[in-house]
Amino acid sequence: GSDTMDGRTTTSEDAFRQAQGVIPGGVNSPVRAFGSVGGTPRFLASALGAYVTDVDGHEYVDLVGSWGPALLGHGHPVVLDAVHEAVSRGLSFGAPTVTEGELAEEIRRRVPAAHRVRLVSTGTEATMTALRLARGFTGRDLVLKFAGCYHGHVDALLVAAGSGLATLALPGSAGVSAAVAAETIVVPYNDLDAVAAAFAEHGERIAAVITEAAPANMGVVPPLPGFNGEVRRIAHEHGALFVQDEVLTGFRVGPAGWWGFEGQAEGWEPDLLTFGKVIGGGLPVAAVAGRVDVMEQLAPLGPVYQAGTLSGNPVATAAGLATLRLADDAVYARVDAASAQLRSAVSQALAAASVPHAIQWAGSLFSIMFGAEAAAQGARDYAAVQATESWRYAPFFHALLEAGVSAPPSAFEAWFVSAAHDDEAVGRIVDALPAAAAAAASA
Ligand code: PMP
Repeated sequence: GSDTMDGRTTTSEDAFRQAQGVIPGGVNSPVRAFGSVGGTPRFLASALGAYVTDVDGHEYVDLVGSWGPALLGHGHPVVLDAVHEAVSRGLSFGAPTVTEGELAEEIRRRVPAAHRVRLVSTGTEATMTALRLARGFTGRDLVLKFAGCYHGHVDALLVAAGSGLATLALPGSAGVSAAVAAETIVVPYNDLDAVAAAFAEHGERIAAVITEAAPANMGVVPPLPGFNGEVRRIAHEHGALFVQDEVLTGFRVGPAGWWGFEGQAEGWEPDLLTFGKVIGGGLPVAAVAGRVDVMEQLAPLGPVYQAGTLSGNPVATAAGLATLRLADDAVYARVDAASAQLRSAVSQALAAASVPHAIQWAGSLFSIMFGAEAAAQGARDYAAVQATESWRYAPFFHALLEAGVSAPPSAFEAWFVSAAHDDEAVGRIVDALPAAAAAAASA
């Protein structure tokens, strides 16, 4: 419990030093390095329910949730049983298995817009394949994305991207060729005029618009009402496809993802969707899905190539299938309730410490935007997010960490709650907030 929080991080420090000597930056994904908040990243030894334990024996209430997959909380016994059962039958076959079809079917049952589903291993592969499909289907080259949206580390999508690039304040990535970058058009989020202007200028060359269903990689910046549907309409008017990236939101914000709130409710479908995170339950599974005529361009049926040695891996798909089957209405109700409790507690603590802020949220995903401007009008695009007082996040984060609460180590990432965040776990976070708010105030 938090009484073990003696502040010693010797084992993490040693491990970090060792790792830095062999792994660039000591981490295998940049945001894990604590670059923008400072200090030593906690090396984790185990995770169970709403809690993670580091190698020095400290337990934290976890608000990272492996960056999305842990919808049920960590180590759900039914998911672990499914994994153990799958492991006992072998780790990888490189041949089709029944579980792959069952997982694809479960995805389509919940999101009927996913008429055909191709399983891959990471969200990056899913969005990369979506773009290749859109280009193959339309015979066009350009892609339109929104500033601050992150779609994985696909070359063409690292232009003005969020997530780790936002954390490190990078405009894009070195190593992306000028030719590739020139095929990506970037416009501000929530700006329909900018979308219309880009199509007016380049409409005949644009293969697809790709957008996070509800952006959560520049902090959470929800779409204005009707935005997604209108972007889709404009794209279609010009013969381009509309690709909705639900790698993060899919099966997390609700049983049918963000599309369940908008497209399904309003009666429209994206041409392509991408999924990841929750559909693997903590193991590597992601998917590209959508219209039959577009998806059937994929090899072996069509000319658009895509493949993977470990695609549809039997252990990973067993974890994903068990996770989705457990993610019933009660799970979403608990996640939503925990998120609502936390949003109001964070806001109250910050208000009590006189820290101007806005809590921005989309379904159960939320993040804090610091500063009077955000408090007054919210942050609706990446420029507004970058103008927030995000430096207040580092002391806020460290005060939480010292009190046994592991928030995401970046102001530009969403907080991930799970169905395992019960009153006890939420209570521990709430208890830690006043000191964190005071730290944010004095930053
Ligand atoms: N799209 C979105 C919206 C994401 O949030 C992410 C990962 N955070 C990705 C794509 C990339 O997924 P992966 O990290 O599995 O490649």
